[in-house]
Amino acid sequence: MLPRRQSAPALAPQQSRVPPKTQEQQNKQEGDGQVALQRQPQQAEGTNSSNVLCERPKETVISDFLVSLLECPVCFGYMMPPIMQCSRGHLICSSCRHKLNVCPVCRVTLTNIRNLAMEKVASKLIFPCKHTCYGCRMRLSYTDKKTHEEDCEFRPYFCPYPDEKCVWQGPLKDVYKHLVTTHENVITMDGNDIIFLATNVNLEGALDWTMIQSCHGRHFLLSLEKIHLGEGCQQYFAACRMIGSMRDASDFVYNISLEANNRTLKWQSKPRSIRESFVAFTNADFLVLNKSTVELFSEDGNLALNVIISKANDAGEE
Ligand SMILES: [Zn+2]
Ligand SMILES: [Zn+2]
Ligand SMILES: [Zn+2]
Ligand SMILES: [Zn+2]
Repeated sequence: MLPRRQSAPALAPQQSRVPPKTQEQQNKQEGDGQVALQRQPQQAEGTNSSNVLCERPKETVISDFLVSLLECPVCFGYMMPPIMQCSRGHLICSSCRHKLNVCPVCRVTLTNIRNLAMEKVASKLIFPCKHTCYGCRMRLSYTDKKTHEEDCEFRPYFCPYPDEKCVWQGPLKDVYKHLVTTHENVITMDGNDIIFLATNVNLEGALDWTMIQSCHGRHFLLSLEKIHLGEGCQQYFAACRMIGSMRDASDFVYNISLEANNRTLKWQSKPRSIRESFVAFTNADFLVLNKSTVELFSEDGNLALNVIISKANDAGEE
């Protein structure tokens, strides 16, 4: 039997969190003035074209030019219908329009004028995914763009720590570093068989306990969430989420077992990915414990969860 190590996870009051809004920062461009056309030389395809100066297909150059015209001067995202403009013709995206009273370019008071011609142009163009800066190479029509971006595998990860004040987001490779440097009370334990000790589980209010388990060359976020469902009714959600994509997480299996007072409770499932937000907690297939179960298994107000993480292939052989 492997030795069990004790952890002392920190404890922080917590309510449900709302993912922060994504900011579009790529393709920064100055105002609505000059538009730089990128001309990249392209090999001639063995034709004796008289137009030797034509480096890229003319349609691509025009299309890139039109796409660049559709960059909002405020948020640098692409303007999608409805596209608004000031009385002097400066374009602005509809979400920035809602936040402003004057034109960001000429300061004239904004009214609600739509630019139908540019809306038609936008409906015919192919736009780069907004996660281009994170490595996505997809180009999509405006009707497909939003759906793709919400599910794009390159989209940045939000901080998975249950603190709604933290608005950090970034690439997967930086998530672990962010957690241990910014959220100092998140401790890491190495090993595939550890004890996640949640202290003072009976304290009033919505609380959470979080720690990181490192094994199999990966990091997993262990959480115990205490949620208030009303007068005297509390539920605890115990979850193991991988700091990785959903695809990566499917390679593993985790077991949680509780043992105390001659009782045993075991749970086995596949880890979720930190892609899945805390809001989804109550619907997800995590281990759910009610107050009286927690009382049965806790000793001196502390609940010890034995967490074992295995590779999915190996789990069946044990
Ligand atoms: Zn905008
Ligand atoms: Zn203007
Ligand atoms: Zn994408
Ligand atoms: Zn954070």
